[in-house]
Amino acid sequence: MNKFVGAHVSASGGVFNAVTNAVAIGAKAFALFTKNQRQWNAKELDGETIDKFKKALQTSGILAKHILPHDSYLINLGHPETEAREKSMEAFLDEVQRCSLLGLDRLNFHPGSHLKKISEDECLGNISDAMNRTLEKTEGVSLVLENTAGQGSNLGFKFEHLAQIIDKIEDKSRVGVCIDTCHMFSAGYDIRTREAYDKTWSEFDKIVGFNYLMGMHINDSKAKFESHVDRHNSLGKGEIGLDAFRFIMNDERMDDIPLILETIDDSIWKEEIALLYSFEN
Ligand SMILES: [Zn+2]
Ligand SMILES: [Zn+2]
Repeated sequence: MNKFVGAHVSASGGVFNAVTNAVAIGAKAFALFTKNQRQWNAKELDGETIDKFKKALQTSGILAKHILPHDSYLINLGHPETEAREKSMEAFLDEVQRCSLLGLDRLNFHPGSHLKKISEDECLGNISDAMNRTLEKTEGVSLVLENTAGQGSNLGFKFEHLAQIIDKIEDKSRVGVCIDTCHMFSAGYDIRTREAYDKTWSEFDKIVGFNYLMGMHINDSKAKFESHVDRHNSLGKGEIGLDAFRFIMNDERMDDIPLILETIDDSIWKEEIALLYSFEN
């Protein structure tokens, strides 16, 4: 048993509550926002909050490497305008520092959007540049790029985008990727059958590399294959179906990383976690 499954739990009332919420649903991993994800500014993490978080973690037995904090939705490191990009970079730096204070070792984020104002290449360049600058100013936290569905002008929907960003990162020991099954499917990477699953992941390995895989988001998809629409669904209730999740739970390449549900009905997360564990042979 080397799978660490959990969900993106609420941290409302304090980051330490995320730990309690994770334990309550039988999670061995979890994701959280370390601040309000819809606001630019947040109160600094105080010593008492940090202490309570670390104590709760210790009691839970959940390790830092199985926690996948997610940054604010407002941040766009690929923003075409310098001023807006600087603002995003500042907020991103703060997010990394918050992770660091909490003793966490990775931060999950969406690469960025060109807003139809600059080319894909230029946008991807902005992203690696922002990441390099952030890495220089921080330590101990890896930056984990998430693949996207390619909705709107969001980049990261092709494995090549992720590879192109990583290629320009100076400290490759602190960069990783998080693959979201819903986004992957909606972007045109099929995982529904054994054959399709193997083909998609061997492509991933060839273009990005499993050594960069630092987490996964486990979601079914409401949107059709290759629709480029980002709409999650509960496991087995969407277009992907359960087989893909059975394959994942028996794939040792997904061992020892956080496998995080972002499915739409949080009242059944406990059942979904148990279902995933029941797939293990
Ligand atoms: Zn996701
Ligand atoms: Zn999504």
